[in-house]
Amino acid sequence: MKPFPDYSQIKFQPLSSVWLSSKEIEIAVLRLDRLHPEISGNKWFKLKYNLEEAEKQKKSTILTFGGAWSNHIAATAAACNLQGFKSIGIIRGEQLLTPTLVEAKAKGMQPHFISREAYRRKDDEGFIRQLVHEFDDPYIIPEGGDNALGIKGCKEILAGVNQHEFSHLCCAVGTGTTLAGLIEIADPGIRIIGFPALKNAKYLIDKIRGDLSKNNESKSWQLNMDYHFGGFAKATPALTIFIHHFYDQYHIPLDFIYTGKMMYGTMDLVKNNYFPSGSRILAIHTGGLQGNRSLPETYKYLSQGN
Ligand SMILES: *Cc1c(COP(=O)(O)O)cnc(C)c1O
Repeated sequence: MKPFPDYSQIKFQPLSSVWLSSKEIEIAVLRLDRLHPEISGNKWFKLKYNLEEAEKQKKSTILTFGGAWSNHIAATAAACNLQGFKSIGIIRGEQLLTPTLVEAKAKGMQPHFISREAYRRKDDEGFIRQLVHEFDDPYIIPEGGDNALGIKGCKEILAGVNQHEFSHLCCAVGTGTTLAGLIEIADPGIRIIGFPALKNAKYLIDKIRGDLSKNNESKSWQLNMDYHFGGFAKATPALTIFIHHFYDQYHIPLDFIYTGKMMYGTMDLVKNNYFPSGSRILAIHTGGLQGNRSLPETYKYLSQGN
């Protein structure tokens, strides 16, 4: 396989503002979104050990799952193209060739649409067996890269971070795979806050707890459920205005599904004096900007990165 990016080279971007200084809060953004133009953000980390395992098992094809705008589908198609795998995307819902899927196809991914109803069975053993048979024994990666090897890869997100420099870590949460990896690798003194991008996300607490290895019981982590903005892929005017303002002020594009909500939540907690003065926060930019192409024209400048 081709070498993976050097994760220790990921850049931080400190946010400098009079307001943050007056609160005596420092925030730095870890720009995973700039890791690779197509294999964006946390998705590279989740794929890394899965692709290595697929190679070990001598599989030539990767099969995975996602929606028509999925960052995971986009990243998997690009990573498989780069590493010489064929790829199959089991896509939820109606046949709709979004820019995400057009690009995935151009990278060699074969999209296979199934109904939302059928998609609900994506983790069922019987359904998986059927797919393995139908698609000639591919290596299966669950939706969102959510498995033990995905977590293993996410433990490398902080490879270039000197954790002593930070008191808090903030990260967006979908499946919780990324957060689990971060909790595993975090120093015991650091406080980790996950911001679920979906509504009714309480189940994630037990899921993440179950994903952690035993020696993490003393780690300080929590999920803040207050910033889902109506649910997965939903947004409110307050959120979209925030994303525009954030770009104007710091020149960092955020996606409206994950990182916009995480950053809004972080800033709002600063506003409400949640963080003690002197806090040094590391906000993880998990990427996902390609998904902004689903937004109206005025937002599209945010989908390219910078
Ligand atoms: C997929 C994704 C997440 C969610 O990661 P999980 O490991 O599923 O919690 C967060 N941010 C962005 C930008 C993503 O694309």
